[in-house]
Amino acid sequence: MRRERYFEEDFNGFVEGLINSSRLEGKEAGIAKQMLDKGYDSLSEKQKFVFDRAIENNTVDECKFCGADIPWGEMLAALDNEGYCGHCQHMMEKMNEE
Ligand SMILES: [Zn+2]
Repeated sequence: MRRERYFEEDFNGFVEGLINSSRLEGKEAGIAKQMLDKGYDSLSEKQKFVFDRAIENNTVDECKFCGADIPWGEMLAALDNEGYCGHCQHMMEKMNEE
């Protein structure tokens, strides 16, 4: 995951979602909470390493179908649906209905 994307809108909401859904626990959750409170730049190099790895393990880089970046607002859903963006997931749901 590119670090620039940490500064996009909705990233903090996504991190909160990871904590609330217990995808991040213990040390990772603690560091994530500090990131939410004080920002990514407040983390030490060691903490950044742990945080980056946790994010890497809990994100999908791009939609498996259309290759678009997954917006942070859709990332938790993408983790659950095996890596599709909201648009493609919606299309597939519609196709299944027909
Ligand atoms: Zn897609």
